[in-house]
Amino acid sequence: LKKQFAALKDKEAVTRDGVKITILGNIELPDEAELVLKNGGEGIGLYRTEFLYLKDGREPSVQDQLRAYKEVSRIMGSRPVVIRTMDLGADKVVLGGEEFTHEHNPVLGFKSIRFCLENMDMFKNQLRAILLASGCGTISVMIPMVTNLYEVRQTKMLLRDVMEDLAEEGISYNSDIKFGAMIETPSAAIMSDRLCRNVDFVSIGTNDLIQYTLAVDRANERVATLYNPGDPAVLRLLRLSVDNVLAAGCGLSVCGEMASDPEFIFFLLGIGVRTLSIAPAMIPEIKKVILSVSIEECRRLAEEARDMCFPAQVSNHFRAAAMKIL
Ligand code: PEP
Ligand code: MG
Repeated sequence: LKKQFAALKDKEAVTRDGVKITILGNIELPDEAELVLKNGGEGIGLYRTEFLYLKDGREPSVQDQLRAYKEVSRIMGSRPVVIRTMDLGADKVVLGGEEFTHEHNPVLGFKSIRFCLENMDMFKNQLRAILLASGCGTISVMIPMVTNLYEVRQTKMLLRDVMEDLAEEGISYNSDIKFGAMIETPSAAIMSDRLCRNVDFVSIGTNDLIQYTLAVDRANERVATLYNPGDPAVLRLLRLSVDNVLAAGCGLSVCGEMASDPEFIFFLLGIGVRTLSIAPAMIPEIKKVILSVSIEECRRLAEEARDMCFPAQVSNHFRAAAMKIL
């Protein structure tokens, strides 16, 4: 079966009714970029940079970061590379862990963009490294776990600060670098009409969006059965976000694991998603799904799921469609 998928890797991901879907890869380490290309990915939609910090348990130097970003950029050439700023905290703790200890609810605590905005020197170092790399290739920057517009505004101010520093030092960078935010909290989804007026693009992180919408810790096995991408509440937030983002003409991708689940491809394409960012190993299989569906059919299936109240109904509905083609 896998061999059959592998043959598809150089084919464009186009639906039966001729709609082009862009498939990007999610990576954690620079050398995984090769894997994205090998599997037929068209760029990097999510580079999880926190692994640079987790590797040595301390902040990497600007030079080390720059080396990593340039390496990804070199491998990808002119293809897009979305660098997500460090998403530390909760399950991704480093730096002696001092800042992160003794939290009763680390997933709701001091993490991601919250951590960055309180560790501004460290954050600015990362933005500097990203800007230094931005001269080559097509690099953009994206922030994780946004819950309010202050975070977006503050980060943009910091980015401008770092740009001014570089300009004063006579160092070149891409002053037109695209800036994006993740939609992975219910508040970001609910406010997505406003959020997307303040960014160039958004990427929907379904892993966290499911966790926060359903109040289910995604790493807690005791509640794993409640962690359900097919929950109607999740589907509603996704639909709301996509409607808002498309209406605003803002860039859009989905980078959580739902984007690599054949069942949910129908739903995502049906509500208007045209860019998916997924684990490199899943690219050929998802291409196969895309080549086998039509947008018309996806729209109908997504529409039929609108009134469903139970996750099992939703899963059965989309699984039956996926079974026909896989
Ligand atoms: C997500 O939350 O869906 C996501 C892509 O980010 P991460 O899995 O790194 O939290
Ligand atoms: Mg996330």
